[in-house]
Formats: sequence, structure tokens, C-alpha cells
Amino acid sequence: MALKSPEAFIESLRDDRRIHMNGKWIEDVTTAPRLKEAARHSALTYQMGRDPDLKNYVVSTCPETGEEIAAFYRMPQTAGDLLARRDAIYQVSRYGGGVIPFVKEIGTDAIFALRMITPQVDRKFGTNYAERIKAYHHYAQANDLALAGAVTDPKGDRNKKPHEQENPEVFLRVVEKREDGIVVEGAKCHITSSPVSNELVVLPTRNLGAEDSEYAVAFAIPANAPGITMIPMHEHHCNEPVDRPLSTHHPIVHAMIIFDHVFIPWERVFLCGEWEFSGSLVLSFASWHRFTGLCYKGPVAELFLGSAALMADFNGVAKTSNVRNKLQELAMYIESIGVYSRMACYEHQIVEGIAMPNSLHCNVGKYLFAENYHTMIKYVQEITGGIGGTCPSFADYQAPELHEKLERYLCGRSEISTEARIRVIKLVRDLTASCDAGGHMFGTIHGDGTLEAQRMMVLRDFDMRPAIALARRAAGLDE
Ligand SMILES: Cc1cc2nc3c(=O)[nH]c(=O)nc-3n(C[C@H](O)[C@H](O)[C@H](O)COP(=O)(O)OP(=O)(O)OC[C@H]3O[C@@H](n4cnc5c(N)ncnc54)[C@H](O)[C@@H]3O)c2cc1C
Repeated sequence: MALKSPEAFIESLRDDRRIHMNGKWIEDVTTAPRLKEAARHSALTYQMGRDPDLKNYVVSTCPETGEEIAAFYRMPQTAGDLLARRDAIYQVSRYGGGVIPFVKEIGTDAIFALRMITPQVDRKFGTNYAERIKAYHHYAQANDLALAGAVTDPKGDRNKKPHEQENPEVFLRVVEKREDGIVVEGAKCHITSSPVSNELVVLPTRNLGAEDSEYAVAFAIPANAPGITMIPMHEHHCNEPVDRPLSTHHPIVHAMIIFDHVFIPWERVFLCGEWEFSGSLVLSFASWHRFTGLCYKGPVAELFLGSAALMADFNGVAKTSNVRNKLQELAMYIESIGVYSRMACYEHQIVEGIAMPNSLHCNVGKYLFAENYHTMIKYVQEITGGIGGTCPSFADYQAPELHEKLERYLCGRSEISTEARIRVIKLVRDLTASCDAGGHMFGTIHGDGTLEAQRMMVLRDFDMRPAIALARRAAGLDE
């Protein structure tokens, strides 16, 4: 089947999915405010495949079927394949204005994790999950589907395991097993791009024990399946699009998804009760997803540096040492993200024939990116000046009775037009201080797993023995 056009992708979302947003049912995701912009932003992934200069990044071939597929679906088998995935994610994020369109990356992270873990489950339990996920992988790539990855449960009391919770469905679980499939009940939270995806790939959120086996469930399901309700978050904007150049054209929506007695046929079930493998599935997904995070954050960091450099120039301070120091920090930030994402490809691991990005590099890289994100925003805001917080709207700037005065008082150095300066100020505001900027801050800290999750993984993956041996020798404890 051919790769989808952006128009066909948008049309595919008109499928009577149940979405409730800001107190109302949404009739058509492709025409509702905010959601239609999110759909168009996601369609950029499909659009890029039609651009002769960029097509090679996002179109590839499947090593298993030989057909032409979206590059995100290509299961990496070598460092070169991983680097190609890195480039695809990085370039599509640039194509999205610095905001990743996010409709194939997380879903394929989940598929790759399942393709690595299900053969191990099958060997232990005689199940046939590996065949099923392979068939689903081929189906999704053949139909060029937009997929969301739904992992995070509501969790209730964070100190309790699923079966200890007062409300047993704060973790999604199997409530019925039938001859033809299973029925699940529960919810998944914060699921990126789910309102504008065709299907959801669902994984457990944590390591589980025997008493929690009904929570060890993984499956794929169309976003319009009976019993699924999505509740995206959207704060109303009061300004014109020109005042928020990024969030107008490149919004991402995240939704809570309620699964109310949802039926999944067996061929779409990839784990059901094998709790012993929930932990390795989660960890494997986490590494794939942190790699994705590292790849798509590069253009975000470039937007920080680019807008800060423009503001420094427009304000006439580009050459002062205090400003240059901050630009250096922003450049080092970009460089470190690039190096970690590339090293994760070179120093990969092969698991079940799949090249998996180096877990330690992914975790350290994602941690450093997220840990320093707010500091980088501080540098951009510091260079921009207070005007980033208070600049009058474009409508005021263009009002005939104010225009001449604002032209004079909102100017920077004389060679730069006032309008250009206002446009960059608006970009900085949208990038660092708008509703969407706040959402991206949360996404950076918590999306791809919390900072604490990365710290834990680093301690797990880092071999401390050489460091301890060296310290023992230096202290005279060992020869
Ligand atoms: C913008 C955005 C997009 C996202 N996209 C997706 C997505 O597409 N798919 C998806 O599946 N998920 C997604 N997530 C969810 C993300 O992975 C989670 O937010 C993250 O894993 C943290 O989980 P939580 O939000 O439940 O926070 P919590 O787990 O409640 O964590 C809050 C704090 O409590 C601490 N804490 C929690 N439990 C314990 C404990 N037992 N002991 C000690 N400390 C604890 C944590 O370290 C953290 O500091 C997204 C999140 C955001 C913000």
C-alpha cells in the first residue's frame, strides 16, 4: 500500500472518535479549534515525504517485506539504521518548526520494544506474541498509520502497587478474557497526539509482580474503538496567531484516554498476564523513547539559540561578553544533545536482531537535556529583556493611532525593522512563556519519564566497578 498523503491522513481522522474537550463533545477532530491545527501539524510528517529534498529522511524500505515505508517504521538492525532514525526524527522536528509532529515516533518506540521482548515471552510460555506484533508492525507500516504510545497510567497512590489501590483501575487491567479476545478497563494519561492518531499502542507502565498479573497487558487498538474516550487539554488563547507564531501553527495535543470496557481481539494482544516481562518491556520502551526524545529536542534547542542570537543582534548587544557567554551555553546545549543521540547509535546493543540505542547514553542525554531546559529558557529570556514578558500585541502595534509611536518605542538598533524585532519577541514569548511553553516544560521534565527515572537507569546501567577499583587503589586499600 502506498504512503499516505497529508490530505488522506487528515481524512483518516474523521472516524467518529469520541473526544470531549473544554466541556463539549467534539464532532470532527479535523475541524475543531486547536485539534484541527494539531492534525495539520501532525500531517507535516506525511507532507515531508512528498518534499523531494527531504523525502529521503522519512521514506525507507522494510528489510522484512521490501516495501516502501515511512522511515519511522524501519526496525533498526545496525548503527547506520539507528542514525537514519535519528536523522528522520531530528529532521521532521525541524520541519515542524522545531516542534515534532509526533504521530509515528512513540508508537514505533512501543512496537520495537514489543518486538524485542515478545520473543522472550514466547520462549518461556509458548505464546505467539512475537508473530502477532510482527503482523501488526507490518499492518501499521503498510497502512502508514499514525500511532500514539499509551503507557502512563493514572497510578493513584504512588506508594501502592496496582492490586493495593483502593480503585483497582487506576492502572489499566484485563477484566475479562473471552474466546475471541480480552476486555480492558482503566485509563492512560498525557498521551501525546492521541486525538490525531489512527491507533493506540498500549503498554504497562511499570514492573509488576504475580499479584498484579491482570495489569500485565499490551495491545493495539484503533482510536475510535467502542469504549474509548479521549480528553485533551487545551487552554483558550486570547491573542491573534501572529502573537504566538509557534503554538498557532505547531501545537501538540495530549489527552487522557478512558478505556471503558474496551474489547481487544486476540491478534492485537501482545502480552496478557505474563507479569515477569512487564519490567523489561517498560525499560526497553523507555530507552527507545528517550532516544526519540534526544533526537527531537535538538531543533527545540536550536530555536532557543537562534531566537536568543537574533534578539542579541536586534538589541545591539551581540558582541558583549555577558551575552556571548549565554549564547555559548546555548550552543553547548545543542552540541551535547547531538553527541549523546549519535553515540547512542554507535554504541548500540543488538537484542533479538534489533539494534537498540545505548540505554546509558539515552538516559544521561535525556537527563542533561531536561535538567538544563529551564536554565536555557532563562538565558533566552535574559538576553531578550523584559519586553518578552510585556510586548504589546501585534493588533496594538498595527493600530493607526498607535503605530507611529510603537514603531519608535519598540525598536532596537536602527538597522533592524521594528516589525522584525516584534516578531522575534513574540517567538521568544511563545517559546518560553506561553501556555504551550509551559506544557513543553512539563513535557521535558516528565515526558519520556521523570528525571528520577533517568537517574535510576543510570545507576542500573553504569558500571561503577572500575571507578571503585581506582578509588580503592588510590586510598591504599588494594595493591
Ligand atoms: C507533555 C507530556 C507528554 C507525555 N506524553 C506521554 C505519552 O505520549 N505516552 C505516555 O505513556 N506518557 C506520556 N507522558 C507521561 C510521562 O511519561 C509521565 O508524566 C511520567 O512518566 C511521570 O509520571 P506521572 O506524571 O504519573 O508523575 P508521578 O509518577 O506522579 O511523579 C511525580 C513525582 O513523584 C515522584 N514519585 C512518583 N512515584 C514515586 C514513588 N513511588 N516513590 C518516590 N517518588 C515517586 C516522581 O519521581 C516525580 O518526581 C507525557 C507527559 C507529559 C507531561
